[in-house]
Amino acid sequence: MDDAQSPDTLLSQSLAVLRHCVSTLETAAARAPTVAVELRDTIAALRGVESALHQHRDALRRAEHFATLGRLAAGLSHEIRNPLGTLFLHIDLLEEEFREPTPESPTVMMQTFGEIRTALTRLDELVQDYLSLVRVSTIELGVQDVGAAVQAWAVEMQPRAAQQGVTLELEGHTTVGPLAFHPSTLRRAVLNVVQNAIEAMPHGGTLRLACVRTATDVQLHIRDSGVGIPAELVSRIFEPLYTTKPGGTGLGLYIVREILVAHGGGVTVASVEGQGTTFVLTFPVPA
Ligand code: ADP
Ligand code: MG
Repeated sequence: MDDAQSPDTLLSQSLAVLRHCVSTLETAAARAPTVAVELRDTIAALRGVESALHQHRDALRRAEHFATLGRLAAGLSHEIRNPLGTLFLHIDLLEEEFREPTPESPTVMMQTFGEIRTALTRLDELVQDYLSLVRVSTIELGVQDVGAAVQAWAVEMQPRAAQQGVTLELEGHTTVGPLAFHPSTLRRAVLNVVQNAIEAMPHGGTLRLACVRTATDVQLHIRDSGVGIPAELVSRIFEPLYTTKPGGTGLGLYIVREILVAHGGGVTVASVEGQGTTFVLTFPVPA
């Protein structure tokens, strides 16, 4: 029998290995409290890094938001000049009619007041849109019945729709239940989409608001029977200052998207040219 493989040798070799293991284990056991402390320190340091990263990410988001606001402010100052110019012009006209009245003066003055009102409305819309964008980064969400809110907004928008020959239909709002949202901000988003829908139906049509609750989210579908959006332009409609309307601001849908993102949700669109467009606003349901 080979001596190297005898049971005695094997046993003594095994014992030596065991002894070594025991002493390693003893050393490890002695170091265990230190290692535990080191691990705890490492975990604490990693947590610090994680929260610093979160803070940096939030700061970056805020910086991005303000950079966008800065870009928009530049665009807006340009946009504001048009209605301001109209206002000055029409005030001069009024002054002239007042100083040297003619038989036509009452008619001219009434028309001029109408123009002034339109220019003021446009300025008001620009400012409201811009302010809703400035505030969007600081909104706090509260849990409320979103169906009841949607119904109230529909009632509010009904006269505007009717004036344009648009029938407004509302379905599903009684079954969606509570959701975390900021009412006046979300109202702005819904109003912007509905306003676009009405503008897309210059000869009247149907506007459907449908609230849908799925397992994971609440959706608000806003469907019009209007002119639709050409496929090659769909990707552009959420860009700030993109508009195809002579008096448009191009801010409406950009703001809608920012508002939805601030609610942890999103907005999608599907459109068929000549048939109509559906916007879907999606909100996550809190787990
Ligand atoms: P604005 O309404 O001032 O033009 P928006 O950001 O609200 O700006 O919309 C951008 C563009 O998207 C509109 O000019 C229009 O071309 C298109 N759009 C938005 N909603 C609709 C809709 N429901 N139907 C057809 N086109 C739409
Ligand atoms: Mg719009």
